[in-house]
Amino acid sequence: MNRMNDYIESVFLTEDPLLEEVIASIKDNGMPDISVSATSGKFLTMLISMSGAKKVLEIGALGGYSGICLARGFGTKGTLTSLELEEKYANLAQSNLTKAGFGDQVTYLTGEALKSLEQLVKENEKFDFFFIDADKENYKNYLDYSLRLAEPGAYIVTDNVLAGGSVADNSVNPRRYTEVMKQFNQTVAEHPSLESLLIPLGDGLTVSRVKDY
Ligand code: SAM
Repeated sequence: MNRMNDYIESVFLTEDPLLEEVIASIKDNGMPDISVSATSGKFLTMLISMSGAKKVLEIGALGGYSGICLARGFGTKGTLTSLELEEKYANLAQSNLTKAGFGDQVTYLTGEALKSLEQLVKENEKFDFFFIDADKENYKNYLDYSLRLAEPGAYIVTDNVLAGGSVADNSVNPRRYTEVMKQFNQTVAEHPSLESLLIPLGDGLTVSRVKDY
């Protein structure tokens, strides 16, 4: 799986000094190296620009790598709301988004994502694109909240759904969240309100469209 990703990256991606700086800043701040893969990041940018999404909700900001990829998709014409547990991470993400030219278009809500999501529901907020990439145990809850916050026709994308390949291949060492992901993928695949597919880029992305018919 990694060789396939390396091949795709070598053919379809070019050097990206800004995103490389983001990765370096994450390392310099002693934060974990768990941003989306470069291929998944480019795919996020393309999904946003192809769908025309303008109001994006991200769950799990880390240092802003995926945030920049999402914002690049809507350019000057959209906004990103990003939920992050750690204030230090949200501060770095804000600073990196500002360097990328999107500082005025992003809002970070810090603390438990479930609390922020409940608040967004109370405020009757609506979004047309969701990127779920935080604590895996809550993926199903994040999916349920996304559906409550979604405009008809919205997209919901979730990272790490292959759990390093362990969801599909018994010879791969299972991860802590392998079973959670298997269950999550099944839920997404069978959900009556969603049309979905799993794309094997990076650590695997589910891409769902909220049905509007
Ligand atoms: N999306 C980021 C990117 O690709 O640049 C990477 C996100 S990283 C995989 C997961 C993030 O979720 C971490 O920054 C972590 O602090 C955050 N997180 C974990 N549990 C959380 C929770 N309960 N509520 C909000 N954020 C949480």
